[in-house]
Amino acid sequence: MIRIGVIAAKTAWVACAVAVPLIVLVDVESVLVTGSIVFLSGIISFWCGWRRYTRLTCLAVANCGIVLLFVALVNLFGWGPPDAEIPFALMGTAFAAMTLPAIISVARNVPIQDPRVCATCGYLLYALVTPRCPECGTEFNASLLTTDQRGELADQRRSNRQ
Ligand SMILES: [Zn+2]
Repeated sequence: MIRIGVIAAKTAWVACAVAVPLIVLVDVESVLVTGSIVFLSGIISFWCGWRRYTRLTCLAVANCGIVLLFVALVNLFGWGPPDAEIPFALMGTAFAAMTLPAIISVARNVPIQDPRVCATCGYLLYALVTPRCPECGTEFNASLLTTDQRGELADQRRSNRQ
C-alpha cells in the first residue's frame, strides 16, 4: 500500500527545510538562483501539502511570499546590492527564526497513515461496497477495514454531531 500522504508530508517538509537557510543567504546578486530555489521549494511544499497538511501549506505560502516580497522591494525601490544587503539579511533571519519552530514541529509529527482514511484525499473510508475512494478514486486495501473500525468510526461521527 503506497502511503502517498506520508510521502507528500515528508517531501513538503524537506522542501521547507531546504528553503529556510537559503532565505537567510539571499542577496541581490544571487537572488535569481537562491530565490528561484526557495520559490520552487515553496511550490513543491504547497503541491504536496495542499488539502492534507495545513501547516506545511502555510509554510509553503510564506516561502513563496517572502521571495516575491524581496523581488518586489528590489523593483519598487530600485535597490542595488549595497542597499538590499542589510534589509535582506534582517528580513531573512527574522523569517527563518519565525518559521523554523513550525518546521521542526512538523518534522516531529509527520502524520501516520490511518488505514481508515483515504491516503490521497483524507476521505473517511467505511461502509463502502468497493475498495475505491468515492471522493478521488484512489484504491485502498479493504482488508484493513475491519468491522470494529467501521463501527468505531460510525460512533465517532455520531459523537461529533452531538
Ligand atoms: Zn480519496
